[in-house]
Amino acid sequence: MSIIHKTEAIVLERRDYRETSYLLSFFTADFGKIRCQAKGARRRAGKFGTNFLPLSYNTIVFYENRKNELHIISQADLLEHFGNIDKHIEKLSYASYFLELANTAMPFEEKNYDVFILLTNFLKFLDKEDTIHTIARVFEVKFLNLSGFKPRLDCCVHCGSQLFDKSRFSYVLGGLLCPDCFGADRKAHTLLQGTIATIKHIEKSGLDKIVNFRMVPRVADELEEVLRRFIDFHIGGDFKSLQFLKKVRGEHV
Ligand SMILES: [Zn+2]
Repeated sequence: MSIIHKTEAIVLERRDYRETSYLLSFFTADFGKIRCQAKGARRRAGKFGTNFLPLSYNTIVFYENRKNELHIISQADLLEHFGNIDKHIEKLSYASYFLELANTAMPFEEKNYDVFILLTNFLKFLDKEDTIHTIARVFEVKFLNLSGFKPRLDCCVHCGSQLFDKSRFSYVLGGLLCPDCFGADRKAHTLLQGTIATIKHIEKSGLDKIVNFRMVPRVADELEEVLRRFIDFHIGGDFKSLQFLKKVRGEHV
């Protein structure tokens, strides 16, 4: 007998499936990332109380399939669709990036309620606030912390000794190196003290206090670069949303 579950879910990805259905990836409150099909959802608009658009926040009811982990949706209701994000191309690109990052980094069927709350909160922030770049950086730092990819900044990532003024950041080893260990990664390089302090500040601050804090431009630029390279190395770098964002900004892709 099938087991039936109800949970809240953010749509990460929606694809057409067979003649009339959708194949959906969700990040859910209770089951982490899951895959479902919504049978007949394309044939009859309104069969479910939602069109399962990516970004949308729904309550879903599904039958658990224990054979191949493709579960079957039986009911759904739209809770929120973040309408302001759709109207602003840069917000939409970053929101899509948050979903791609979660889709790439998170394993199937492993509950991570903190990541679920992070995703829902940051979609709400993007919807309401205009400090898009700060929101994006804070999301990246918080996501790395909650998904098991936290960079090591409190002591030397190689030998564990205490760090003083001189340190270098290693992308490969995932944290700061003390001078004795610089040889462990010849490509490690010095970061601004402000960049390290900013990451630590974001790590320990509550979400509601952090989305509007200001960074000096030099630190903001370095932080963006460091997080980009760190995520590329440890999670993956081929995010369509970021390629799109570069085109929007007129940067060379
Ligand atoms: Zn060391």
